[in-house]
Amino acid sequence: MGWANYHRSNAASRVFAYLDSVLYWQLRRWARRRHPNQGRKWVKVRYWHTVGRRHWVFGVKQAGKVILKLIKFSDMSIRRHNKVRGHKSWYDGDWPYWAARRGKHPMVNTREATLLKRQHGRCPICRGLFDLHDSIERDHVRPMASGGLDVYDNLQVVHPTCHHRKTRWDKQGWCPVRPWRGETAGEALCESKGSGTVLKAGGSP
Ligand SMILES: [Zn+2]
Repeated sequence: MGWANYHRSNAASRVFAYLDSVLYWQLRRWARRRHPNQGRKWVKVRYWHTVGRRHWVFGVKQAGKVILKLIKFSDMSIRRHNKVRGHKSWYDGDWPYWAARRGKHPMVNTREATLLKRQHGRCPICRGLFDLHDSIERDHVRPMASGGLDVYDNLQVVHPTCHHRKTRWDKQGWCPVRPWRGETAGEALCESKGSGTVLKAGGSP
């Protein structure tokens, strides 16, 4: 998923670069039509400036200073990217921020976002925070094979590797634990049919 995400942002910056070039050609056509008697160089000097280390910035110059400039698509994408990178984790407990983004995160749908919120951004298996580049898998706390229901209360989101581990636990008959219900490892009773035994819930591997 990290890989897909990388490609996603890569694709986005390619699109932004393309939009920038479309915009450039449109502006250039507009400028040359507006000043039909001026040469190419004159038009360039009048409308395209160097601002800081950036060249070809479309803008209005007054008294030697660029007073209005057009922001490039690619600038916007870079700025947004930095803002996201500034966060160590998307799911670090900053729920207001998150809720605002919910549904906008390309990798998390609303249901997963709700589950993540309930789990305080942590994977219940390894207890680590989900990272921006972690992919997320949905898991039935009590497996459907042992009578678990496909309902919200029986769902959690976990890391893919933790999902594998959890499946192994399920097969060994370990008890499911729902930390958001106040259940802690060792306290949950196994009600799975036929067994009637109290098994210890798996906390650590
Ligand atoms: Zn995990």
